[in-house]
Amino acid sequence: MRVLLVEDEKDLAGIIKQGLEEHGYSVDMAHDGEEGLYMAENYPVDVIVLDIMLPIMSGLDILKTIRSNDINTPVIMLTAKDTVRDKIGGLDIGADDYLTKPFDFDELLARIRALLRRGGDIKESVIRIADMEIDTARHEVHREGKHLSLSAKEYALLEYLAYNKGHVVSRFDITEHIYNEEFDLDSNVVDVYINFLRKKVDKDFEQKLIHTVRGAGYILKGE
Ligand code: CA
Repeated sequence: MRVLLVEDEKDLAGIIKQGLEEHGYSVDMAHDGEEGLYMAENYPVDVIVLDIMLPIMSGLDILKTIRSNDINTPVIMLTAKDTVRDKIGGLDIGADDYLTKPFDFDELLARIRALLRRGGDIKESVIRIADMEIDTARHEVHREGKHLSLSAKEYALLEYLAYNKGHVVSRFDITEHIYNEEFDLDSNVVDVYINFLRKKVDKDFEQKLIHTVRGAGYILKGE
């Protein structure tokens, strides 16, 4: 999944970016309000982590602008102080969640997962498809109780399919939400990774869960 991080404190931003990437997210980063607004309006991100105090334009103004333009990407606001006024202001104009600095990184991860689930009908951090269980907090995958060993990229792809379970995702969606940085759009990298994933997820099991939808993309489902 793809996260936009708008944070002007570069050290903090670097630490958050690195941590998110270690947990399989692809991260776009902006260091001021203008750049943040541009990215929020133009990049297909799944969650926005938005600092309030920013140069050029505040996080609250960015949020107000994107919500008035019907961009409903989930937003977690970061604030330096636990000021009730900022909190109420942000929630009133469409923030989905709040974190007060300094925060525990695991808490940020948990809140991001909660917002990612909100879009679908997924209620907990373990996503189930037929006999498969994907633990999005631990990044562990089991089928019929057996542990499947996936690389970070294979896991990221499976998790993206799982958050969209029952819905077709196109190759374009996959490249935009997972492999954004080192990706060559003309390559068949998505198909290559789908094949890797099938070998680990489906090959040894009778019921296949990754399905190709000709001309459209892929879908993860139980039937
Ligand atoms: Ca700031």
